[in-house]
Amino acid sequence: MSKGLKRLKKILHNEGLRFTSQREAVWNEIISSDDHREADEIYMAIRQKGISVSRATVYRTIDVLLKNNFVRKLDLGVGPSKFEHRIDSHHHDHIICIQCGRIDEFLVDQIEDLQDKVAKEYGFKLVRHIHQLFGLCENCQ
Ligand SMILES: [Zn+2]
Ligand SMILES: [Zn+2]
Repeated sequence: MSKGLKRLKKILHNEGLRFTSQREAVWNEIISSDDHREADEIYMAIRQKGISVSRATVYRTIDVLLKNNFVRKLDLGVGPSKFEHRIDSHHHDHIICIQCGRIDEFLVDQIEDLQDKVAKEYGFKLVRHIHQLFGLCENCQ
C-alpha cells in the first residue's frame, strides 16, 4: 500500500469512516489529475471509469480530504468551488477566466514576499493566503 493510501486510511479512520474501494477510487481520481475540478466533475470522471459510487460518497470524501489538507479548495465567488490535490504540489496562486473558467497557476516571488511583509507589518505570523486574479483569457477577450 502506498504512503498516500496509508495516510488516507488513517484520516478516514480518524473521521470514523471506513476505508472502502469507493473512497479509494475518489482518492485515486483526485490525484490522477492536476486540473482544478468541481466535485461533480470528479464524480462524473469516476462514474465514467465504470466505478459505482454515490455522489454523496464523493462529496463526503472530498470534505474529509479538504479538512486534512489533502486537497485545496478554490472558491471562485460564483458557481461551485473547484478542487485540486495537494500531493507533491507546491504553493501557487490562480488566475481565472470569468468567461470560460480557464484556470492558470502562477507563483511570483515578489508577491509572496510582499504578503509576508504586509503580515509582518501588522504583527501577524502568516499561516496561509488565497490570492486569485480574475479576468478574460486571450481567447475570451
Ligand atoms: Zn476564457
Ligand atoms: Zn492550482
